[in-house]
Amino acid sequence: MITAKSDSADTLVRTDAQSFDVEAIRRDFPILQQTVNGKPLVYLDNAATTQKPRAVIDAITDHYLKDNANIHRGVHELSVRATAAYEKVRAKVRDFIGADRVEEIVFLRSTTEAVNLVAQTYGHSVIQPGDEILISTLEHHSNIVPWQMLCEQTGAVLKVAPINDAGEIILEEYEKLLGPRTMLVAVTHVSNALGTITPIKEIIDIAHRSEVRVLVDGAQAVPHTPVDVRDLDCDFYAFSSHKLFGPTGVGVLYGKYDLLNGLPPYQGGGEMILSVSFDGTTYNELPFKFEAGTPNIAGVIGFGAAIDYINAVGMERIAAYERDILDHATQTLSAIPGVRIIGTATEKASVVSFVVEGVHPHDVGTILDQLGIAVRTGHHCAQPLMERFGLTATARASFAFYNTRDEVDALADGIRQVIEVFGG
Ligand code: PLP
Repeated sequence: MITAKSDSADTLVRTDAQSFDVEAIRRDFPILQQTVNGKPLVYLDNAATTQKPRAVIDAITDHYLKDNANIHRGVHELSVRATAAYEKVRAKVRDFIGADRVEEIVFLRSTTEAVNLVAQTYGHSVIQPGDEILISTLEHHSNIVPWQMLCEQTGAVLKVAPINDAGEIILEEYEKLLGPRTMLVAVTHVSNALGTITPIKEIIDIAHRSEVRVLVDGAQAVPHTPVDVRDLDCDFYAFSSHKLFGPTGVGVLYGKYDLLNGLPPYQGGGEMILSVSFDGTTYNELPFKFEAGTPNIAGVIGFGAAIDYINAVGMERIAAYERDILDHATQTLSAIPGVRIIGTATEKASVVSFVVEGVHPHDVGTILDQLGIAVRTGHHCAQPLMERFGLTATARASFAFYNTRDEVDALADGIRQVIEVFGG
């Protein structure tokens, strides 16, 4: 078992740096040990949500068995313990993404909530009618719709940086779209639908040269690649625990301290205040100003265990292992006549979107499911991106570090069966 106790390094058991013991890792994920439709489960829907190692499940159970209490308010022992455990995770997240301060880490529900928070606070602070917000064709609906809503509310205009046929943002076009009215760039770090890794540092540098702030949607980047927000110099970075082997219902917004500190609160309620009277309210300090109401305490604690687990495996090693899986999947699938991979960027995370000639993606997904193989089919919450490729849907296999080359081969066999069924 990969044990992960980041605060006592001597108890860390790391696999040999040269090898990646995927079978040992798989044993840490109880859900993977099952059959589906009589076949061993091949879980390739990691971009939608990842599976959880036992360490995460145990951390949540332990919290409810031993420490459950509301946080920040109680003087009693359980509340003190729960508060300490919750706040410890904030420090883990800070270190995980290379932020300067714990105050820059806001716990929310999801990436979606983080983007909405920035739209409704930063957006409303700075946007005037006729101002522009610049996104890209690659975006997930979560990084489109909040900006469209802000545009409706303020009279701002949404601009979209185009992509090429490989699914890469065309940087020259992006740069041309940055104008005197651009108030914010909001771009994904990794595309969920195609796997494209965007040149995010360059995108940020270009925006900053025009003194434009940048929000990065990091939902699909953090599970696959080391992220250092200080090095990137992004102004905001959003991601979700559940795509990073942690529980659902927990998201993170990173924001530069001075920037976050200058923003108005997002939601009102308990926890985000210092004092309340009927004459007015004084808001709490960062990060609590943005954390109204009782948070997902157990979820955050489980998320901390996920970060420990990933750190124990090693993010660099995860990235290297997944590169091999991606290469194998790309070669194997593209060798099947009738299969076309959508998204062929030079820099990609381990996501392979594909279409099978003459077969609807939902049929591909249904037949694969009968073989115990879970892939995603549909528009992947990226309808404008699908439209760019003249499609309404694709099938998508998205890999995590517990997937194997054998599973890629099982997927390829499954696709060949799909083609046979449809008389290809
Ligand atoms: N951004 C990207 C790139 C995603 O892939 C997703 C989820 O698939 C999201 C945002 C939204 O994440 P969540 O549903 O956790 O808010």
